[in-house]
Amino acid sequence: MSISTSVLSDMLQALPHLRPQLYFKASLTALSHAMEDQVLAATLEQPLVIASFQRERFYRQEAHRYQRLALRSNQIYVLSAPETDFTNSSEYYEKIAFEPDDALSQEWHLVVIAQNYATCLVCRESLGSLAKNRQLRELSPGLDMDAARRFEGIWTAERGVSLKAAELLFERIVAYRPELAGKIEQARQRFGIGGRKIDAEASQLLSEYACDIDTDPFVQRLVTYLQASQYKLHKAYRSISAQARKERLVNSISTAIRRSLNPQEILKVAAQELGQHLGACRCLIYRAQATDTQAIIEHEFLSFNVLSLLGHAWPLENNPLFEEVVVQGEGVRVADTVNDSRVSGSKALWQIVERFAIRSWLMEPVVFQGRLLGIVELHYCGENPHDWQAGEIDLVKAIATQIGAALIQAEAYANLEELNQQLEALDRTRSNLIAITGHELRTPLSTIQVCLESLASEPDMPLELRQVMLNTALADSDRMRKLIQDFLTLSNLESGRVEWHPESLTLQECVDLALSRIRTRMTTDKLPEITTEIARNLPLVRADGDWLVEVLAKLVDNACKFTPPEGQITIKATRNNKQMVEVTVADTGRGIEPNRLEVVFDRFYQEEGALRRSTGGTGLGLAICRQIVNGWGGEIWAESNGKNQGSEFHFTIPIVEGSQEQKTSKVKSQ
Ligand code: ADP
Repeated sequence: MSISTSVLSDMLQALPHLRPQLYFKASLTALSHAMEDQVLAATLEQPLVIASFQRERFYRQEAHRYQRLALRSNQIYVLSAPETDFTNSSEYYEKIAFEPDDALSQEWHLVVIAQNYATCLVCRESLGSLAKNRQLRELSPGLDMDAARRFEGIWTAERGVSLKAAELLFERIVAYRPELAGKIEQARQRFGIGGRKIDAEASQLLSEYACDIDTDPFVQRLVTYLQASQYKLHKAYRSISAQARKERLVNSISTAIRRSLNPQEILKVAAQELGQHLGACRCLIYRAQATDTQAIIEHEFLSFNVLSLLGHAWPLENNPLFEEVVVQGEGVRVADTVNDSRVSGSKALWQIVERFAIRSWLMEPVVFQGRLLGIVELHYCGENPHDWQAGEIDLVKAIATQIGAALIQAEAYANLEELNQQLEALDRTRSNLIAITGHELRTPLSTIQVCLESLASEPDMPLELRQVMLNTALADSDRMRKLIQDFLTLSNLESGRVEWHPESLTLQECVDLALSRIRTRMTTDKLPEITTEIARNLPLVRADGDWLVEVLAKLVDNACKFTPPEGQITIKATRNNKQMVEVTVADTGRGIEPNRLEVVFDRFYQEEGALRRSTGGTGLGLAICRQIVNGWGGEIWAESNGKNQGSEFHFTIPIVEGSQEQKTSKVKSQ
C-alpha cells in the first residue's frame, strides 16, 4: 500500500490562510531540535510527538534523541521509509514504516502537542533544489550541499494548525498500523484532535498551563544554527577566495610562461615567478628525461644569501628522490632533510643537502602525456623545516602542468620552424634545379644538338670541322655529366643519405692523392706552383678518407681555376688549439670581396654568374665541401683581403686521440 496524497497539500487545502515558506534543511533541523528540546524540558505532562522522516538514514541521525524523548512521553510516533531495518514496532515508541514511494517520502513533518503549547513543521522537499545541489556538489565536492537542500512548507506554533497536522498524520498511521487505532484515539481525546472533545483532566491542565510557552529553546537553537551557518559561510568564503587567489596566480604565471616559444626562456621565467610567489629559498627548473644521469642547472630563482646552483651538474642517477619521481610519476616532498630516511640513506644526497643547506625539499615532475620532460624543485634553506601546505603543492602541480604544455608548444613550434626551413631549402633546391635545367643543362644540350645535326645533315663537311663539332659536343656532354653528378652528391649529403667511414689518416697522404688527381685531370693547362707545408709532427686525423681527398681536390681545383699560371698555391696544415688540424689552401689569385666570403658556400653561387662563366665548374663545389666538413664535425670558411688579393680556404678535421706527431716538411711541386 502506498499513499500518494501530500500531507502539506491537504493542510493547505484545509487551512487556506496558511502561507508556505522556503526553508533550508539546516533551518528545519534547528527548528525540529528546538521542538524536541521543548518536549525534553517538560516534566509534568506527556506531550504528543509525531515525526515523519523521508528516509531511514535521516531517522538514524536522530534515533538517540527519540529514545530520550520516549522517557518523557508514551505518545510518540515515528514514521519513515525503511532502508535497512526500520520496521513497524512498538518498542520505545511507535515506529511506522511507510512505503518508499509514499508521498511522505518527499516530506518532513514534526508535530508536538502539549496542553499548554503546540508546534508543527510540515514541509515538502523542493525537487528543483535536489538537482541543483547535485550539480553544485559535483563542481565543488568540499561544500556541504546537504545543509542547503530546500524545503517549502510551514512552521508554526498555532495550535489549530498543529491539531490539523496531527489529525492528517494519524490517518496515515492508522492506515499503515490499524492496531494503533485505540492508542491514537486516546491522544485525539486528550488533545482534542479531529474535533474530539477534550477529556476533563486534560481540560484542567490546559487551563492551568495555557499560554505558558517557553520560547527559550527556540531562541537558543536558532542562535546556534545562525552561528553555525555563519561559520560555514565564512569557511566556504575562505576556501573560495583561496581558490580564486590560486587561480589568479596560476594564470599570471602561465601568462608569463606562455609569452615565449623559446624553451629556455620558459624555464627561466617559470623558475623566477614560482620561486618568488612561494617565497622559496631556491627554485630550480630543468629539462630531464627518466634515463638521464644528471642535469645541468641553467635556471634558478634564488632568495637573498642562498648559494647558487647555476652551471652545476645536478645528479639524477642514484638520487632516491628523482628515482621515486620517475617510478611513481608523481612529485615527492621532504619535510625535513634532517629526519628523512631517503636522505640519510644516500651519501650522495646527504652531501648535496649539507653543501647547499637544503632543509625542506620538493621535487615535482613536468610531464606531458606520460613523458617526463623536466623537474621543478623547491628548496627551503632556513634553520627550521618548511611546512608544505596543500595550497602550495597544488600551485606547483598546476604550474608544472603549464610548463609541460608550454614546452611541448615550444617544441612543436621549433619543429615547425625546422620543417619550414627544410621546406624553404627544398623550394630553393627546386628553383635551382629548374634554373639549372633551364640554363645549365639546356645550353650544352642545344650545343650538342646543333653539332650533331650539322654532322648528320652535312656529310661533305671537312674533316677538321667535323672533329671540332665532335669535340664541342663531347665537352658539353661532360659538363652536363659533372653538373648532374655534383647535384646528386650534394642532395645525398644534405639529406643524410651518405654513409661515413671514418678512419685514422695522415694528412700528407690525402694531400698527395688530391694533387695527383688534379694533375691527371688538368694535363693541358699550365698550373700555378703548388707548395705544401704540412707539419711533420701533425697528429693523425679522423675522417672519411675519400671525402677528405674530395674536399682537398675541390679547394685546390678552385685555387687553380682562379689563379693565373704564374701565381702560387700553398697547402698548409697545423694543429690548432681546439684539438683539431686546420688545413689552409691559399692562393695568390683573383681574391674574393669581403661581403662574398660567406655566400661563396651557397649552392650555385658563382661570382660572374652562370651565364658569363669562363672557368667551368658547377657552382656546387664549396657547398659540397661545407656539407662534408660539417659531417665530421669540422668548420670551413674563406678569408681574403678582396679583389686580386688572393684567397684562403680553411677547414678543420678532428685529430685521433693520442696519435704521434711528426716533423714539419716543406715540399714544392709543379
Ligand atoms: P665553381 O664550380 O663555380 O668553382 P664553387 O662552389 O667551387 O663552384 O665556388 C663557388 C664560387 O666561389 C666560384 O664560382 C668563385 O666565384 C668563388 N671561388 C671559389 N674558390 C675561389 C678562389 N680560390 N678564389 C676566388 N674565388 C673563388
